[in-house]
Amino acid sequence: MTTDGAPAVETAGVLVDGFDALLLDLDGVVYVGPGAVAHAVESIAAAVARGVVAAYVTNNAARPPSVVADHLRELGLHVEDADVVTSAQAAAREVAARVPASSRVLAVGGPGVAEALRACGLEPVTLASEGPAAVLMGYGPDVSWRELAQASYAVGAGALFVATNTDLTIPTAEGIAPGNGTLVAAVSAATGRQPIVAGKPFAPLMRESVERVRARAPLVVGDRLDTDVEAGHASGIPSLLVLTGVTDVGALLAAERHRRPTYLAADLRGLLAAPDVLALEQIDGDVADDGLADLRDGCRRAWSAQDEGRVDPTTPDDVRRWSADVVAALTC
Ligand SMILES: [Mg+2]
Repeated sequence: MTTDGAPAVETAGVLVDGFDALLLDLDGVVYVGPGAVAHAVESIAAAVARGVVAAYVTNNAARPPSVVADHLRELGLHVEDADVVTSAQAAAREVAARVPASSRVLAVGGPGVAEALRACGLEPVTLASEGPAAVLMGYGPDVSWRELAQASYAVGAGALFVATNTDLTIPTAEGIAPGNGTLVAAVSAATGRQPIVAGKPFAPLMRESVERVRARAPLVVGDRLDTDVEAGHASGIPSLLVLTGVTDVGALLAAERHRRPTYLAADLRGLLAAPDVLALEQIDGDVADDGLADLRDGCRRAWSAQDEGRVDPTTPDDVRRWSADVVAALTC
């Protein structure tokens, strides 16, 4: 990279060199709202320049892939529409595998849901009285009680019930808002039925992404333990957690085994750092310090205490100090 502000790229032995594909989460990793996360665009470009394929994998089903790709291109990334994999696409494939071709499917959510169904040869409809074979629920900011009622009628009548994702919250500029999981929970509560879920942490979205880019050695990159990192565990894929999104030091230290990332970095510059600096499993101390060595060491101690049923030795002062380390690492 020659662009001002580009991360320093070592000549060999950086994290991405061990992988052939990045399965990148979007919110809190590549962008927050309309704007790019600091260092994200140039770090991804530098990673791709080293030969890795970037797939953009999102639980958010509201926007079609082409709209997401337009957003990413506006941020300066070189992205094809097919590089974007949404939970709506993975969910539509789950539906298509279980109902006859051309079936009617009641679509609840943003335009991304209906578009994904059409791409799988299914017919999106809006009323239970149209006799849908399945219901597909995805996030949409304009989803109404009437649509939830139609979904409940169809699910109650025996339609296959599929959800793009079950994230309980969605971050907005004004704060934390109900995510698709709360809407799905309303229909589950009304009908007593649970959906098949396509999105992270479940396997269908990871499977769709791996197939899309023909990955043999993928790396999940995300900001959430309960979706991105857990999806990696569920699919046998290593993960890099970045601290530019929702996960804070306290949540990381308390992570259960199935939600512990393989690697930890402040932001996407970690893609271009030495893997032994970033690895959380390493026990001999970091060979170099990117500002988070003490936090990684704290994670190892907290997690081994958790696994062995001992009291976590972490003190509130530790959490404050490591949180300050994160802020310093993010702003350097
Ligand atoms: Mg995210």
